[in-house]
Amino acid sequence: MNPQDYILQLRNELREHNHNYYVLDNPTISDYEFDVKLKELQDLEVKHPELYDENSPTQRVGGGITKKFHTVHHRYRMYSLDNSYSKEDLLDWETRIHKILDSDDISYTCELKYDGASINITYTDGKLVRAVTRGDGFEGDDVTTNIKTIKSVPLQLQGDYPQDFDIRGEIMLPIDGFNKMNEIRIANGEDPYMNPRNTASGSLKLQDSTETASRPLECYLYSFKVKDFGNAKINTQFESLQFAKTYGFKVPNHAKKVNSIDEIIAYAEHWETARHTLPYEIDGVVIKVNDLFQQEELGYTAKAPRWAIAYKFKAEQVSTVLESISYQVGRTGAITPVANLVPVLLAGTTVKRASLHNADQIQKLDIRINDYVYVEKGGEIIPKIVGVDVSKRDVNSCVTIYASHCPECNTELIRNEGDAKHYCPNEFGCAPQVVGRIQHYISRKALDIEGLGGETVALLYKEGLVTTYADLYDLTIDQIIPLERMAEKSAQNLIEGVAASKKTPFEKVLFGLGIRFVGATVAKKLAKHYKSVWALANATQEELEQVDEIGVRIAESVVAFFVDVKNLQVLERLNEAGVQLEINEEAQQLTSTVLEGKSFLFTGKLTQFTRDEAKDMVEQHGGKTISGISKKLDYLVVGEKAGSKLKKAEALGTVTILTETEFLELIG
Ligand code: AMP
Ligand code: ZN
Repeated sequence: MNPQDYILQLRNELREHNHNYYVLDNPTISDYEFDVKLKELQDLEVKHPELYDENSPTQRVGGGITKKFHTVHHRYRMYSLDNSYSKEDLLDWETRIHKILDSDDISYTCELKYDGASINITYTDGKLVRAVTRGDGFEGDDVTTNIKTIKSVPLQLQGDYPQDFDIRGEIMLPIDGFNKMNEIRIANGEDPYMNPRNTASGSLKLQDSTETASRPLECYLYSFKVKDFGNAKINTQFESLQFAKTYGFKVPNHAKKVNSIDEIIAYAEHWETARHTLPYEIDGVVIKVNDLFQQEELGYTAKAPRWAIAYKFKAEQVSTVLESISYQVGRTGAITPVANLVPVLLAGTTVKRASLHNADQIQKLDIRINDYVYVEKGGEIIPKIVGVDVSKRDVNSCVTIYASHCPECNTELIRNEGDAKHYCPNEFGCAPQVVGRIQHYISRKALDIEGLGGETVALLYKEGLVTTYADLYDLTIDQIIPLERMAEKSAQNLIEGVAASKKTPFEKVLFGLGIRFVGATVAKKLAKHYKSVWALANATQEELEQVDEIGVRIAESVVAFFVDVKNLQVLERLNEAGVQLEINEEAQQLTSTVLEGKSFLFTGKLTQFTRDEAKDMVEQHGGKTISGISKKLDYLVVGEKAGSKLKKAEALGTVTILTETEFLELIG
């Protein structure tokens, strides 16, 4: 056999053994035989570099180094899930679904809610091309190199797979594997990892993929994003899971198709206790409307699909002693009380600290030093204290008196009416606030300055080189080189990173300014509405409250920010430095304005484009989409099997009804 054929044969064989071992749990050769074949393939590939294949089984051992994880825009947004915590919540959801769909023929797929790190993997022509973390749902990090080392992720598909699709799943660290990793760490004198979920998600962001390859990670797949399933006639979520298996994906067998709310509740109740028999952690179950066309009809809210809901299990609790309370100062000056606990095991991990939220919480629960407290782990990384075992309280214990002064700068704390938190008002003189603001400014979702990290910011501050983010733009290379752990190259990178940040779009800069309550999403909204920081600075409280989804709290905080002359001076300097303080109109330009002032609604099964694409097209031509039939609706675009919406629109008589083709003609 010529080397090329032999290499291909070896690759196929190894692929199959991999699948048998890691996906089917049914190996047909010994580990030793496998290693021998793998070594043989590695040697041949070294001898024949011209036959390199980035999806060869040899790539699984890692070796690739990722210096910086590139941001990738998801072609289909990765939504969150709405949560429910009781039977009543589930009932409400089911009633809502029936009402919207106007149908009694609805089935559901019940699945486990895997507690790991979500991943979106793209396959084209059967080959893994890219794997991206969820990130903020719109864009995530390209972690392909690391994902390829996870043995249950197929690099090459088998069977009759769709030509081009995304598949989503959860990267998991089974409990056994996690415990083994910790035993080794403890033996080496290292701190054990907190919990399997964080370690799984941390594993995806390791720079050295050999390290990722060495961790016993698994990937469980649960949903497709695809335009065209190709030859497979897939109409339901449940079928899609069965097909995923035939392509080589690892899909656990616990999904169940059901037809009633009673069965949904029975499934949830069963797994609430049976979860402990699983070799990995789940934090609930997920219920999905089974029919994919019904899913499309139900669509999404701003955050989550209407066609799915998570049912979250009750959190686990333990009791331990509260040793002391410390106070942390955040970048906005907000004070967070933190409980220092006698270490205790909770849901498989050791807990030493817990959040106490704020003064009210401490007062309400009457939490005192030396109390036995109940600690609970919710979705957050840091557990929280939910109660006190008063029967065990020491007779001499005293009521907790909340801190009156900032632990960092000793300024007297303030608490505004209606605010749950205390604040240190020393905005420009309190180290964690000053440093925290700059760290926020350079962070990933903000200006994302390459070559500059949080620790360096702290160092620059300590050396008196920066006190505001505007100071970053005045740094010179000579100032930086003498600093600890800096060399000419790293100093150069820092300066270049700062210079490059001037191109960051306005919405991210606005987020980076660190205005209280203005998170990334709100910043996007405000940037779109006001188009420049100067317009925003001139907006009154009332005007701001008129903007979609902006409430009193945000409006107040925005106004307070721009009233402060110190902030205005900093903005002036950012402006002089050339930072983007307004929207770049060119990037925003619409394709046309033919639909200006017109509203659209899409119904039925669309065959020429998806609902998301439809919405984009409408917006690109200046129109908007709305969610229900009313006098405000101008156009209803109907796909196949349109139902009650079409009838309503016809009855109204004011709505123009279009086919998909007519819609496309309308926008040219
Ligand atoms: P949350 O992070 O609470 O908004 O929940 C949404 C996340 O649940 C998704 O991003 C997934 O990573 C995760 N998840 C785990 N299991 C499933 C499942 N079977 N179906 C959908 N999402 C799941
Ligand atoms: Zn302070």
